[in-house]
Amino acid sequence: MNHRCNGWDKAGWARLFDTFQKKQQDLQNMSKHYDLISIGGGSGGLSAAERGAVYGAKCAVIESGKMGGTCVNVGCVPKKVMWYGAEMAAALKNAPSYGFDIRVDGFEWARLVEAREAYIKGINDWYGNYLADSNIDEIRGTARFVDAKTLEVNGEQYTADHIVIAPGGVPSVPDTTGAELGITSDGFFALTEQPKRVAVVGAGYIAVELAGVLNALGSDVSLLLRREHFLSSFDAMLRDTLMEEMVNDGVNVMPNITCTEIEKANGGSLTLSFPNGQQLTEVDQLIWAIGRTPNTEALNLVAAGVEQDERGYVPTDEFQNTNVAGVYAVGDVTGRAQLTPVAIAAARRLSDRLFNHQHDRKLDYSNIPTVMFSHPPIGTVGLSEEDARKQHGDAVKVYQTRFTAMAHAFTKHQPTTAMKLVCVGAQEKVVGVHVIGQGADEMLQGFAVALKMGATKADFDNTVAIHPTSAEELVTLK
Ligand code: FAD
Ligand code: NDP
Repeated sequence: MNHRCNGWDKAGWARLFDTFQKKQQDLQNMSKHYDLISIGGGSGGLSAAERGAVYGAKCAVIESGKMGGTCVNVGCVPKKVMWYGAEMAAALKNAPSYGFDIRVDGFEWARLVEAREAYIKGINDWYGNYLADSNIDEIRGTARFVDAKTLEVNGEQYTADHIVIAPGGVPSVPDTTGAELGITSDGFFALTEQPKRVAVVGAGYIAVELAGVLNALGSDVSLLLRREHFLSSFDAMLRDTLMEEMVNDGVNVMPNITCTEIEKANGGSLTLSFPNGQQLTEVDQLIWAIGRTPNTEALNLVAAGVEQDERGYVPTDEFQNTNVAGVYAVGDVTGRAQLTPVAIAAARRLSDRLFNHQHDRKLDYSNIPTVMFSHPPIGTVGLSEEDARKQHGDAVKVYQTRFTAMAHAFTKHQPTTAMKLVCVGAQEKVVGVHVIGQGADEMLQGFAVALKMGATKADFDNTVAIHPTSAEELVTLK
């Protein structure tokens, strides 16, 4: 009896222990299984998880760097703070025209950067709390695919029914000799001292914005374009007006130039050489702003069978589906309209579709409004005149104006405001709204709604103006 009982005891306990261990393992595995995992805690990844969690989905976000991604840490937010600083500098210059007797004793770059970074730290911390409160797991580290349903982070595996690829992009650097002596927008935001003499290479958003900020804050800026113009996809009125303004403001715009070599001189400054033998010397900082590259290197997309295009972007269909079922991509990694609100909108709609039975929910990528935080700023939505004429030929009618805004009527510096409506057909449907001038950044959002709703020139004309503003010109164009 004793013997049987002991025998049964040993085997029974062992079986029980095995069962217990298996259950524990199952529980552990279950806790690492999610309805949705976002790779990347930036605009897109966070938004997919946040919206999914609202519908009760069990979500996680994997982030290798700071929560908030590019926009919060090295993009829109720090850039806008610097732009506000630059606008402040311009306002101070104009203050005497308004009767102020002011003396500006200097500008402390380090103080502005410190305040900016403290503000951003607050946003990072807020995200941490928000995720916890929203019941979203935050997984720290770099994600790589094991297969289409499994990710590995720091040796741990996580599975999900739905995986959202949202790793954003990184700044591109050319393979020019000595290119590593330059910095990118990431390096710009790490500067704790204001560079005196700066060369910015590039012709897009970042080149124009950073050149403008540095110039307004007192650096000596050269902007190197490989072609005649910057902002090649923008309406010609916008880019030509901005070019005039930047040159008037003192930016040394160098068109049709390509840097072939960068060297460090004895004193530490840089020398940039060009094919014609010309050189730009005593450059304190060279900033590459020549576009961004999708950040997919660590992801091991091959293991999941996810395709990339020739530039490394992850193509999706209109519902953000990649070529692999259950794997999606949103934001900059898709290569479409690399803007924060686009990443957010696409991600939210994806989760609406996956978890809220909104089967047709998707982002309409047409007519996305955008602002260039230049000096003065640009707000633009819809077709440029050039693209409208390519698409609609003689059916295009354009209304435009150019003036000095009242704010600058008697200031020393008198930036131009210019506006254009691009209309099509007998109904004069408005297909493009383009504005450059003070306030264009805040002006555009409402006009973008009108354009999206299919407004005609008559609808604009039937809207009573708000006076005295610059925006009223858009509803009184002849
Ligand atoms: P990101 O915000 O880049 O987030 C991706 C995240 O994924 C990052 O945090 C990264 O660390 C993480 N990650 C990458 N790989 C992995 C991995 N394998 N595992 C775990 N985590 C990973 N847009 C605007 O709309 N307005 C602006 O004014 C504006 N200004 C900008 C200024 C600058 C200088 C720059 C660079 C960009 C600016 N943008 C602006 C663009 C905007 O920042 C991006 O469109 C937006 O951040 C894209 O969001 P995302 O989610 O695709 O990627
Ligand atoms: P962009 O794609 O806007 O512009 C890069 C430009 O640099 C190219 O179009 C090209 O212009 C030029 N270029 C490319 N290669 C070289 C080279 N080797 N030498 C010289 N010039 C070169 O990239 P950015 O880096 O400026 O910005 C990335 C994205 O971030 C933007 O497209 C935008 O979506 C987003 N962003 C948005 C902002 C906003 O909303 N305000 C602000 C900042 C960024 P070309 O072909 O005409 O020579």
